[in-house]
Amino acid sequence: MSSQNHYLAALAFIDQRLDELIEEFGDLPELEKEKQRELINTKVLIDETQSLLDEIKKFVAAAKITLIELKEKEEKLTAQQFMVRNNKEFDAISREIESLRQEHSNLSNKMRSEGIKEENLTKLLDEYQKKYDTLNAEIKALRVEIEELAGEQKEEVRTLKKQKEIIESKMKIQFLKEYNRIRKNHNDSAVQIKRSSCTGCYNAVPSQRIVEIRNNKDLLYLCENCGRILIADDLEINEDLVKQLI
Ligand SMILES: [Zn+2]
Repeated sequence: MSSQNHYLAALAFIDQRLDELIEEFGDLPELEKEKQRELINTKVLIDETQSLLDEIKKFVAAAKITLIELKEKEEKLTAQQFMVRNNKEFDAISREIESLRQEHSNLSNKMRSEGIKEENLTKLLDEYQKKYDTLNAEIKALRVEIEELAGEQKEEVRTLKKQKEIIESKMKIQFLKEYNRIRKNHNDSAVQIKRSSCTGCYNAVPSQRIVEIRNNKDLLYLCENCGRILIADDLEINEDLVKQLI
């Protein structure tokens, strides 16, 4: 004899086991996600640092050429200075030389400060790279752990899900809806009456109601205290019940 109460009991039994299996993963999946996020952030830092370094290198390469050119111009002007015919020309060249030297000195200073920047950025890049590699290794280890667990569970989860599907297909839709609605608040959506109490909240159930529930197994009764579905106290809830119903 199978009633809606039987199906609810079987469904609750299956869901409890499925919940236990998920519980075995603990915070591993969340941890993996967290590390994955961190990995992406670190990659962004690596790319940003690398592009700053590229810019500095480009600047330094161009500056080196400019410094040589400035030096050459200065030498040319110095040679010209020996051939001037008057003081006015001499002074004009002197000013030009002075301005070239100033430019040379400014550029040299900028190169030095960029050099320090480059050194610091290289150190940072190295740190980010190490962090990235560490995270990568940690994620791989976590995945192995998760996959191993999933592998162990695979067969059982498949069986349970199949059983659940069959049980659900035999249930009245409003019972199933109610069960799933309550499950949003309580993992144990349907609970058995034991020792005259709801085993969800341990509130006493009046004896007249206990009898009523026992005699009307195709009706839905909720605990007046916690709102969980009540399962009659005379049902044997175990694997055999599930097998009988399938
Ligand atoms: Zn209750």
